[in-house]
Formats: sequence, structure tokens, C-alpha cells
Amino acid sequence: MYYCLTCQDSHHPESKAGKLFRTGFRTFPSGEKLPLGVCLKRVEQEQASNKKVS
Ligand SMILES: [Zn+2]
Repeated sequence: MYYCLTCQDSHHPESKAGKLFRTGFRTFPSGEKLPLGVCLKRVEQEQASNKKVS
């Protein structure tokens, strides 16, 4: 499991394995520690936002 900065949720690495940047760890109130990552949704969002002028 890792914590996705894009989705603000935890993922299994296998589910969105195309892009995963490990930048550190996030500690949750429960005491659980998960590596931080960015899944493919981030790339899709950036590509979409680059096309929009907003
Ligand atoms: Zn994600």
C-alpha cells in the first residue's frame, strides 16, 4: 500500500503501477505509515489541465 498524493487515498501499487514516485512517508493518526506516491491519475490530470486554459 502507498498513499497517493493525487487521490488523497491509499492504493495498492499494483493497481496503478505505471507511475509511482516515492517521495517519503506519511504517518496517519492511526500510527500507520505508508510510502507516498503519485499514481497515473496525476499525469492524466496534468495533461488535461495543460489543454485547458483556466
Ligand atoms: Zn491515486
